[in-house]
Amino acid sequence: MTSITVKAGNVAIGGGNPIVVQTMCNTHTSDVEATLGQCRRLYGAGAEMIRLTVPGPGDIAPLKEIHRRLREEGIDTPLVADIHFSSETAIEAAKVVEKVRINPGNFHRDHQKACEQFSRLVAVCKEHGTAIRIGLNHGSLGERITSLYGNTPIAMKEAAMEWIRMCITNSFYNVVVSLKASNTIVMVEAYRLLAKAMEESGTIFPLHVGVTEAGNGDSGRIKSIAGISTLLSEGIGDTVRVSLTEPPENELPVARYLADRYGRRLHSSMVSINIEGRKAVAAYDAPSRDRLLMDFSADFGKMLLDRKIDEVELKGAYTGEDGQRHLLDGSDYAAYLVDELMQASRRRFYRPEYVACPGCGRTMYNLEETFNEVKRRTAHLKGMVIAVMGCIVNGPGEMADADWGYVGEGNHRVTIYKGKTPVARHIPETEAIDLLLALIEKG
Ligand code: SF4
Repeated sequence: MTSITVKAGNVAIGGGNPIVVQTMCNTHTSDVEATLGQCRRLYGAGAEMIRLTVPGPGDIAPLKEIHRRLREEGIDTPLVADIHFSSETAIEAAKVVEKVRINPGNFHRDHQKACEQFSRLVAVCKEHGTAIRIGLNHGSLGERITSLYGNTPIAMKEAAMEWIRMCITNSFYNVVVSLKASNTIVMVEAYRLLAKAMEESGTIFPLHVGVTEAGNGDSGRIKSIAGISTLLSEGIGDTVRVSLTEPPENELPVARYLADRYGRRLHSSMVSINIEGRKAVAAYDAPSRDRLLMDFSADFGKMLLDRKIDEVELKGAYTGEDGQRHLLDGSDYAAYLVDELMQASRRRFYRPEYVACPGCGRTMYNLEETFNEVKRRTAHLKGMVIAVMGCIVNGPGEMADADWGYVGEGNHRVTIYKGKTPVARHIPETEAIDLLLALIEKG
């Protein structure tokens, strides 16, 4: 069995190295000053790897400048270029940054042609010592693979193994793989299948783990922790990104928590647990509200996802920002955390399910504000899946199984989707939320 260690600049991923914490800028890479500013803040906040969106060849020059200036300032955090549709852009970016993320679903439909495109990219990566992430997403698997296996965790695993074999054929091992989904059950299943398949094949590539389009606030954190901690607790996962529809700095404390906890540098604040039948009763003594949320999600996400228990009750206390101890027994906060974790692990839906991308350089509108407004106005639609996506390029594919989608087109226009079908196009942003609500009402 060979466990691969990937080198991206000064960072080593996999092969028993500590879990790497990463995030992604949500600036336009072409806006060099804004992106540099965000990179500096992320570096200061502990990002060990920073991804930037590179939509096309026009973004290569700014990418070069950002990379050069960061290095001149002594910031040596590896940069990752996020590429979707253009293998030519990937090739150019691979000459500049330490790692390139590609989405295989966007490579040529013809498998032979995709292999040729990939071989050219690999040759450049070998020459420049650049790592690659093969970043598959549940919502954007290629047509060929979904026609064979459906839109399933098995299809995700098969697609990943196909690309892993292409790497091995090209004698290229500087590769990390990810299989993200917004649905925690799909995501966990896909990574478990891939980990097993790699073990059986004898070559284990490092895995980048994350729940994609997790949303924001407590629910985005709980959903991310439930999915990611389930995998990390099984030794699956070498680098972590927590995707939140918030400033990327906010992702880092959650990712750091996960890396420290599963790197055995931090322990849960749970002080007792009693499992009777299919119900767990746990008592905490947590140092803060946030820590309680994270510990509870990590302690019980896996048990709920794997259906080991059906109910959980929270007891004990946490210390609030006011320095006071807040009792959990029978409290609204305890009930809320249980409801949120039940929803995150897809065991019980007490409100709508939201799918929202974190936004990136492709986002042309105020995603955070819009998402919060959509959440506020749809809070009564229990069980419905509503997506708010930053761009029309990847949004429709990535929103997977949403019932309704609000997708930014750019130029202050929006397309509204019912399932996978666009039902209203080019709607001015100022009217789009009203129209979304009206269409949902109509059914
Ligand atoms: S869907 Fe969101 S995160 Fe993904 S490329 Fe578009 S704007 Fe960026």
